[in-house]
Amino acid sequence: MSRILTIVNQKGGVGKTTTSINLASALAIYEKKTLLIDFDPQGNTSSGIGFRLESPNIYEVLIGQLELRSIIKQSPVLENLYIATSSPDLSGAEIELVKEYSREQKLKQALESVKNEYEYIIIDCPPSLGLLTVNALTACTDVIIPIQCEYYALEGVSQLLTTIKLIKKSLNPNLNIQGVLLTMFDKRLNLALQVAKEVRRYFQEKVFSTIIHRNIKITEAPSFGQTIFHYDIKSVGAKDYLEFAKEVISR
Ligand code: ADP
Ligand code: MG
Repeated sequence: MSRILTIVNQKGGVGKTTTSINLASALAIYEKKTLLIDFDPQGNTSSGIGFRLESPNIYEVLIGQLELRSIIKQSPVLENLYIATSSPDLSGAEIELVKEYSREQKLKQALESVKNEYEYIIIDCPPSLGLLTVNALTACTDVIIPIQCEYYALEGVSQLLTTIKLIKKSLNPNLNIQGVLLTMFDKRLNLALQVAKEVRRYFQEKVFSTIIHRNIKITEAPSFGQTIFHYDIKSVGAKDYLEFAKEVISR
């Protein structure tokens, strides 16, 4: 059975997109056939690996115009990586779907016909707990929560956990929190150490043992439309995400 992982945190800038791109790519490198779904209207995942934000994309799928299969593209650089791109149109879907029956289940329904063809499906969420994120949480088997090692790291986390609990109760009873990922860790900063400690106290064994360090190469790679593995395989960022993917596979 495929594992469908939603990368979620309603805070912006915590590393959701970076984690989505590089986790999906690392899984593909480990020969796991992987589908990466860009579910954020900003489309940073799509552009970050070199795809244009053009139609058709996941928007047409969500509003029921197209089958998911028809918009999936294969990565030109990684044989096992496939992507469903997004575009700013997707932000309109939140409103367009308001009156639709079972509007929270559109992504889940779209995935039905393709999910068994992939070992992993990774969904990158927008920075909100709106209808798009609810669709992602309803469609997935597991959740990964990236947390940035910065001030106010745990801000909003209780609201996120409440949302996950509600969805588990109503729409997705088997929904599992696979883990919490510490991102942008700078070991020279006392603050980062404190935040990591605080997050570990709060989430305990749910925190992945892999920590993603702050690494300039990670920031540079998307502007070349490249994953960290193509941009600089020897970087700390590449090493961290390969190790993280291994941990995801083993959990
Ligand atoms: P989100 O999707 O949660 O908004 P992003 O993945 O887009 O967050 O990351 C926000 C910014 O931080 C981006 O500019 C990204 O390049 C940068 N970033 C993410 N992870 C790292 C890291 N480990 N080291 C350095 N910069 C990072
Ligand atoms: Mg993002």
